[in-house]
Amino acid sequence: MHKVDFEMVEMTLDVMKYAIGRITHPSPELGKPKKEAELKALVGETITEAGIGGEKAFQLFKDVLVKATVPIDHPRHLAFVPASPTRAAVMFDLVTSASSIHGAYWMEGAGGIFCENEAMKWLVSLTGMSDGAFGVFTSGGTAANLSAMVTARENWRKNPKHQNVKGLIITSSGAHSSVKSMAKVIDCDVLLVETEEEMTAVALQEKIRSLDPQQRHRLFAVVGTGGTTNAGIIDDLSGIAAICEQENLWFHVDAAYGGGALASTSSKHLFKGIERADSITIDPHKWLFSPYDCGAILYKQPELAKEAHAQDGSYLDIFKDEGAHGFNPSDYQIQLTRRVRGLPLWFSLAMHGTDKYAWAVDKGIELANLAGKLIQEHPLVELVREPSLSCVLFRRKGWSPADYTNWTYKNHREGFSLVTPTKYKKDGVYETVARFCFINPDTKEEDITMILASMEE
Ligand SMILES: *Cc1c(COP(=O)(O)O)cnc(C)c1O
Repeated sequence: MHKVDFEMVEMTLDVMKYAIGRITHPSPELGKPKKEAELKALVGETITEAGIGGEKAFQLFKDVLVKATVPIDHPRHLAFVPASPTRAAVMFDLVTSASSIHGAYWMEGAGGIFCENEAMKWLVSLTGMSDGAFGVFTSGGTAANLSAMVTARENWRKNPKHQNVKGLIITSSGAHSSVKSMAKVIDCDVLLVETEEEMTAVALQEKIRSLDPQQRHRLFAVVGTGGTTNAGIIDDLSGIAAICEQENLWFHVDAAYGGGALASTSSKHLFKGIERADSITIDPHKWLFSPYDCGAILYKQPELAKEAHAQDGSYLDIFKDEGAHGFNPSDYQIQLTRRVRGLPLWFSLAMHGTDKYAWAVDKGIELANLAGKLIQEHPLVELVREPSLSCVLFRRKGWSPADYTNWTYKNHREGFSLVTPTKYKKDGVYETVARFCFINPDTKEEDITMILASMEE
């Protein structure tokens, strides 16, 4: 399989040509899904005993399969949390694969892990966490949240009084679904502070006071959100930090989406208090322009994460040996074998410098404010709330939920845009509204105007 022959060289050139084309083409075609049966009919059997050959397989990928995917970096892909990896990071993602680096232990991955750690130092510095704080790159925000929750729970369980007790976490109704979902994985319960805007210290304090003694005994952590996925709302992080310190609770901040704004000059102050967290999730694959997948978990006391996560096994002893000493990323999160997924971020940061990141993040916030202005000037649409971070929620006057769905599908079908509706809760009532989330600094004013115009019919 490794034999380098003429055909292999040809194939490599073809693949590189495609990759170069994709990297240098700023506005790819907006693909859309097809039914599995349709795809099967178009490509036929691809896995056969003899193999169909690289040329054929690649052709099918280019002509059919990649067209049934949505390029998340399209400038009019403003749905969910889009992405916009830098060209440098995409290129280096190829290099990361080609270099075959095992990112679990320093013994094998030292040079790659060194680069990841340089990028991590920058991330830590953005948060303002105290000396000694450090983190690792994970497969995403879900894995980062899980790693933090396990660390918090294991630390709490050191107290013999907690050893057979089922844990309890408090978070807000605006928290990301992964917090609730990962609580199931570690078999702990979640109580929600119901809120339509940010979780305030007062609301959290009330929730804690309302617990019965047994629930209070089970409570070990509070998860605040640094930029809700739906609306970009930031909890009162300082107020929550103070309560967690006073009540001796682990304070985790989920800033998977919003954390990128710590690099911004205009919005960093909104996160005041984040530096007091015990752990923070930030996804570079969301708002720090890294290719999928790249999340990060940062800890105030990384040694607690190591106590919770370091795996033992006779086959692993060599890595812990004196001769191999160095930083072992696998000791600090749930995954053992791992890609050095922070490497593309490192290269891009090294190439562009951190100022460029501040510029690109600020651009997303500017685009959200610009969209807010264009919406206010447009007779048929109105803001549902002021833009927050890079999220804008707005309503098309007179539209039913079905109108929003039809509009989304029509624009997607035509290869024009992907903008999806969401629900917004106000005074206890849910309303279907339209939502923009800006990440890509190449999105232009006219992209926004054209999307708004598509709501006129
Ligand atoms: C996206 C998101 C997550 C989940 O991150 P993945 O990388 O998709 O696993 C968690 N929390 C928040 C706030 C998010 O926006």
